[in-house]
Amino acid sequence: VPTDSRITFDGRFARDLPEMAVPWQAADTPHPTLLVLNEPLAAELGLDPAFLRTSAGLALLVGTSAPDGATPVAQAYAGHQFGSFNPGLGDGRALLLGEITAVDGSLRDVHLKGSGRTPFARGGDGLAAVGPMLREFVVSEAMQALGIPTTRSLAVVATGRDVRRETMLPGAVLTRVASSHLRVGSFQYAAATGNPNLLERLADHAISRHYPAAATAEKPHLALLDAVVAAQASLVAQWMLTGFVHGVMNTDNMTISGETIDYGPCAFLDVFDYAAVYSSIDRDGRYAYANQPLIAEWNLARLAETLLPLIDDDQERAIPLAVAALEAFRPQYSAAWLAGMRAKLGLPDAVDDDVASSLANDVLTLLQDNHVDYTSFFRGLSSVVRGDARPARDRVLDVAAFDAWAERWLAHTPDADAMDRVNPVYIPRNHLVEEALGAATAGDLDPLTRLLEVVTAPFVEQPGRERYAAAAPDDFGAYTTYCGT
Ligand code: AMP
Ligand code: MG
Ligand code: MG
Repeated sequence: VPTDSRITFDGRFARDLPEMAVPWQAADTPHPTLLVLNEPLAAELGLDPAFLRTSAGLALLVGTSAPDGATPVAQAYAGHQFGSFNPGLGDGRALLLGEITAVDGSLRDVHLKGSGRTPFARGGDGLAAVGPMLREFVVSEAMQALGIPTTRSLAVVATGRDVRRETMLPGAVLTRVASSHLRVGSFQYAAATGNPNLLERLADHAISRHYPAAATAEKPHLALLDAVVAAQASLVAQWMLTGFVHGVMNTDNMTISGETIDYGPCAFLDVFDYAAVYSSIDRDGRYAYANQPLIAEWNLARLAETLLPLIDDDQERAIPLAVAALEAFRPQYSAAWLAGMRAKLGLPDAVDDDVASSLANDVLTLLQDNHVDYTSFFRGLSSVVRGDARPARDRVLDVAAFDAWAERWLAHTPDADAMDRVNPVYIPRNHLVEEALGAATAGDLDPLTRLLEVVTAPFVEQPGRERYAAAAPDDFGAYTTYCGT
């Protein structure tokens, strides 16, 4: 029974933190056209896909008719962008419609991206083009299917209005769903206002939404920091294991919940390369693949600084407590990474961590030195266990080095079936994403639909879909991504 047209929105963020919520209206959308709808996610939210496809449903998805109880707001936040602090960022082209209770009882933000200028827009036009919004849809849903915490994409709706970029492009609104949009930059904003009451309300709001156990800790705000450190250590380990490069890990693009957010210039590794950078604006490689754990730790230190006054009235006491909380990042990250690498290599529990660690690091060195495609190599390793070395071995120029490594590894009797459950066949490969977005921008959604079919079931080989599993063609060349489009 569809109850979704009467779904009620809460305005909890706006109620708890009015200083950080500017009531605002989405831009008018004269000709909305649904490009893609995430029906499984709609069902999780208790929304009827058939309703969402109606004109009233589209109006909800682009924010032109505020649903019952909704008071759309632009959220204020600050942030370090490439290391420089900007005290006034905020949703320049986005709105929080409000929170809804999903079927499982959890509270989810429903948020719009590309919904028009807000008071935080500065020089921006407040708009988004079809291509980048579909990119966020594909990549976030692939991340979800890979088991990596992420914001979700409910729909992309074309607005019928063109957006001026290097050329004129069709505009779109992404309807995004998240466990919240609280960012490290939200805390930086609250701290920068100098209003300790606002900061405390924000921290308590975050605790109640994400880490309710922290509320009963001896020092709840220290427990909040501990919890965010743990969530981010685990998240970034999963990025590294999957070969994901976020591309713009500014503190405003790092959540308190531990979900991946703000898919802008992100990309997945093709050939394995510790130094991989894809974003055109990341000239110094600050957000290179191998730097991501260090940057996460740096961002968490910025969060810790904001929490110091809440951790203890006496800053001399607060600082060592915060430092100890931050020091947990490295061992937690390393443990999560090693556990993930053990799984990718199918290593039985009996194998010592030291042995697992050297097998993992040595195979990555092999991949780096030989410019090997990361995803297909790891997927190919289960075939080696089953007696056909070619799917992995044939990718490595230095065959002797591969054979020496494989002999050491095979001595531990890896579990091939377990490996196939964690090493994806399909990731949103850069050349396939570009192909799908190019076609969609020109009006053909078929390549996007086919890409979504494979990346949302990444561990199961689908017959006839070999090209979606294959490494980038040689003529694809160096890949560059662009921000803010
Ligand atoms: P991002 O790098 O996408 O995370 O965005 C950084 C900041 O720029 C945020 O405050 C965004 O809201 C804002 N922003 C990005 N693109 C636009 C745009 N086209 N119009 C207005 N604000 C934007
Ligand atoms: Mg952002
Ligand atoms: Mg963005």
